[in-house]
Parts: sequence; C-alpha cells; structure tokens
Amino acid sequence: MKKKIILNVVIATLLQNIMLVSFCQDENNLKLKEVNNLKLKDFRPVSIYKIPQTKIEKAKYPVMDFHSHDYPKTDAEVDQWVKTMDEKGIARTMILTYTTGASFDSAITKYSRYKDRFEVWCGFDYTGADKQGWSQKAVAELERCYKKGAKGVGELGDKGLGELYSKPTPGYGIHIDDPRVKPLIKRCGELHMPISIHVAEDAWMYQKPDSSNDGLMNSAVWNVDQTKKNLLSHDELIGTLENAVRDNPKTTFIACHLANTCADLSQLGKLFDKYPNLYADIAARYGEISPIPRFVHAFFEKYANRIVYGTDMGPTNKMYQVTFRILESADEHFYEHDMFGYHWPLYGLALSDETLKKIYAENGKKIMKH
Ligand SMILES: [Zn+2]
Repeated sequence: MKKKIILNVVIATLLQNIMLVSFCQDENNLKLKEVNNLKLKDFRPVSIYKIPQTKIEKAKYPVMDFHSHDYPKTDAEVDQWVKTMDEKGIARTMILTYTTGASFDSAITKYSRYKDRFEVWCGFDYTGADKQGWSQKAVAELERCYKKGAKGVGELGDKGLGELYSKPTPGYGIHIDDPRVKPLIKRCGELHMPISIHVAEDAWMYQKPDSSNDGLMNSAVWNVDQTKKNLLSHDELIGTLENAVRDNPKTTFIACHLANTCADLSQLGKLFDKYPNLYADIAARYGEISPIPRFVHAFFEKYANRIVYGTDMGPTNKMYQVTFRILESADEHFYEHDMFGYHWPLYGLALSDETLKKIYAENGKKIMKH
C-alpha cells in the first residue's frame, strides 16, 4: 500500500514537471514569435554596458560650422539659434542657401543682424543654361551675390543626373566638370569664394536595400535609382569632382559629407594627396564614420589639415552635443537611433586636441582667409 502511495506521488510530481516544462516552452515560443516579428525599423536597443558616458555640452575649442542651411522661419528663431550657438561654442555658421536672385537676397537680409555669426553662401544660377552666353550671365549673377555679401558657393549637389540643388533653377545634365561651368569656378577662385559641393551618395545607397545591406535603414531611404538614363555612377561622380578640382587649382573646393566615400575613405585620401585646394566637411556622416573609430581616427589625424566641421542636421542643442561626443570622446557602444537611423552602435573617435582645433576652426579660418 505504502509503495503504491509513493508511486502515485512520483507520477504526480512527474506530471506536474512535464506541465511546467510545456508551459515554459509555450511562453518561450511566444517570446520567440515576438522576436521573429520584430522589424529592424523598430529595433531600439539600449546599451547595457556600465562604461563611461561623456556628455559634452560645449565644444572643446571654438567652432566654424561649414555645412548648415536656412532653417529658421522667423527672426525669433534666428535669435534662438545664436543663443544655442553661444551655449555650444559655435562661433560661426555657414548658411548654404543653394540660391541666387531674390531668394538669396532675402536670406542675406534674414541674417544681417548677425554678420559676425553667419556667412550666407549662394548657388549658381542655371537659368538658361541650354542657351548661348549662359556662362557670362551666371558669372554676372555670382558677382551680384558676392557684392550682396555671399562668402562662398553651396551647396552644389550632383547625385548622377547633374546639378540638382541649385534654386530657382537646377542644372540637370550639367556636372561640375562641364566646360560651361568653368568660368564660374574660375571667378569663385578670384573672389576667394570656396565651393561646397555634394557629389554622389555613400556606397550603401547603391546596393540593394536587402538583408545583406550593411546600412539598411538609410539605404532604403536614400537609395539611388540606378535604372535612370544618363545617371553617373558613384565613381564617375567622384571623377567629375576630381576633374574640376584638378583643372581649377586656384579655387578651393569643400567636398560635402567626406565626398560620400565613408565606406572607402582611401578614395578621398588619394584626392587629398594630389590636390591642395580640396577640403571635405564631415556633415551628416557621423553615423557612418563612428562604427570604425580606430580607422577614422587615423584618417582624421593624417588629414587633419583638410577636414572641416559641419552639421547639416538642424540647429538643436542635442544635435551639436552628439557631434562633439563622436569627435571628442572615447565612448563606446552608444546609440542615437533617432538622429542617424542605423541599427548599429556608435563609438567616439577620441581625436587629439591638435586635430580638433584644426577641424573645428583653424582650417576654416585658412579657407575663409580670416
Ligand atoms: Zn546640406
């Protein structure tokens, strides 16, 4: 009898354990299902590491921002921006307006109360570019903008089909090495107006936005449609920039976004080695350079004389702080999903003081001959 009771208890315990295991399995299956259904766009990991986290409220040295745009809508917003610039250590911001004509003039008026804090840059006017005598007309408009206060030209932009950024008229079909543009580039050199130019997109945007794409979320947003007729490839576009830089040694060029060569900075390095009139800004490429901090640190230290600070990401406090953290700190494995959109963690570049000083302002002063 006693044996039977013991046997029953053993069986009951076993059954209980089996039920428990199967309950846990059900729960695990549910969790697995949730994970399997999770989309990369919703992936927002929070770093688990207890390691140093640096909050940099103000840049270590005074800064010239070589890549910003005409964001404020009102005078009050301009005032607020100057306040933020004071707090963050931004001495001067270049407003790349892309524009000529009336729209350029109104930008000059908008920032006229802060002449020592903002520089307003104009575009090239491609109106009538298909007609004889266009180059002379465009040079005349460039000179007019210069007299109004334009300190440089930008942002020109070519993603394969020609100069698409210029307002009011884009220059589709015209690349920066087009002979018709040469008189404009030459005049920029004579007037000491640097040319800020965006060519191509980073390598991710030319790859299929599929499961093997390393920069998937941005690749999907900025993907270059390579089926378009007459579209120049990434390397062909870098080639147009090289032609213009080589053929106009007295004009200073600033290649925006590290010339969109973040996936292979040796391309930019080779251009730096050949052409002393070429610089590059780092605007809106913080997310692309921070996954490879040791390589980028070495690159920035080597070409410290040729790189300038830029933002291109609005004028908020937070935005400036994140750029300083990436350039100055040695922080590891942190995320800024909302700013950059990539799924990967970020790392500080821990640049040397000498390099920081150059990138933040010394190179800029040299370019602008301040
Ligand atoms: Zn820009």
